[in-house]
Amino acid sequence: MSAGMLCKHTLDAGFGQFLNILNHVCFKRGAYFAKVDANGTSQTCPRCQTHTGKKELSERVHKCPECGYETNRDVAAAQVVRQRGYTAVGHIAVNFGEG
Ligand SMILES: [Zn+2]
Repeated sequence: MSAGMLCKHTLDAGFGQFLNILNHVCFKRGAYFAKVDANGTSQTCPRCQTHTGKKELSERVHKCPECGYETNRDVAAAQVVRQRGYTAVGHIAVNFGEG
């Protein structure tokens, strides 16, 4: 079902259902749930918040030209998502890659 004309729609529907279930489970357990804007997460440095520009999909390493922070591209994007989540609930953003 995830192949062919309905491929993307099916996968989007599956992910949307996952988010609905996650929202429900968080509600039942008293945990906070919120979505964050995922746009540009691979183009932002999680340490210094500098916009680093678009990366090709083949570029698997995030290397910031400003602060020199270097890590896996997906890890950097996940750190940006986490910071946006912290910011959404009023926590101070955490710097990564120290030491
Ligand atoms: Zn940086």
